[in-house]
Amino acid sequence: MIHHNDGEAHRPGRIEVVCGSMFSGKTEELIRRMKRAKFAKQKVEIFKPALDTRYSDNDVVSHDQNAIPSTPVETSSSILLLSSDIEVVGIDEAQFLDMGLVDVCNELANRGVRVIIAGLDMDFRGVPFGPMPALCAIADDVTKVHAICVRCGNLAYVSHRLVQNEKRVLLGEKMEYEPLCRDCYRKAVEAEEAAKAEEAAKVEEAAKAEEAAKANT
Ligand code: ZN
Repeated sequence: MIHHNDGEAHRPGRIEVVCGSMFSGKTEELIRRMKRAKFAKQKVEIFKPALDTRYSDNDVVSHDQNAIPSTPVETSSSILLLSSDIEVVGIDEAQFLDMGLVDVCNELANRGVRVIIAGLDMDFRGVPFGPMPALCAIADDVTKVHAICVRCGNLAYVSHRLVQNEKRVLLGEKMEYEPLCRDCYRKAVEAEEAAKAEEAAKVEEAAKAEEAAKANT
């Protein structure tokens, strides 16, 4: 953790990114930073993509008195319109927002706003996700947080999808994804590919048997 910028008051505009896989504590870290800013009497607000409806619409946090107000937005440009008097802007699940978010964050930081972004660095195939790589590039500070690999206990690096679905945006919790380290992820993908090949061979065999049966009648 970085200590030289822990003071909350009078901080100039800056961009902070908290990235990592699912279950790595990205949102918790975002909320921790937002709460500290709130204790310092700063005006804070969290924005999140409107499609992320796993949590309540109006706050990202549990319903305690420290809940941080949160506003769903359809596009990154809405953040600019809605944060005119906000001192600390939080953005959760930033990977689902458009590339315009890069310019929006720069503009906010240039205005003197502290911007804290949390998001998935990679999708379930290990490909950099949406605006996240560009946001890491323009950030003053990047924190990569890690989940624990559920198979071996090492630090995880990717969210492996447990259901076969090629759609990139699939929201879910522990039923659909598992955090895996690089080694276990590679093994899991190899096993899936082997299973697919076996399935395809079975289908082919069945078709051949059917054909042979037809030829015999
Ligand atoms: Zn592992």
